[in-house]
Amino acid sequence: MTPLAAATATHTDATPTLLAIGLLIAAGYGVACWLWPFRACTRCHGAGKFRSPSGRAWRYCNRCSGKGAQLRLGRRLWNGLNRR
Ligand SMILES: [Zn+2]
Repeated sequence: MTPLAAATATHTDATPTLLAIGLLIAAGYGVACWLWPFRACTRCHGAGKFRSPSGRAWRYCNRCSGKGAQLRLGRRLWNGLNRR
């Protein structure tokens, strides 16, 4: 056996493949956060307001100020990086 064949055939390294898969998932998440930057507000579950027990009155959600939407974590990070 030649030294070159021994060096290439003896061990298989899975680290580059795992790294590529990780980067692919991160890139996919980044694109998803760019396309759909919002998720439903955790406080009001996307409704933007809370109804009174009577059902005729309501108040707006404080956390999302009535929008019912929150910026996703990925998009918040992206905005933070761009602001610099
Ligand atoms: Zn809300």
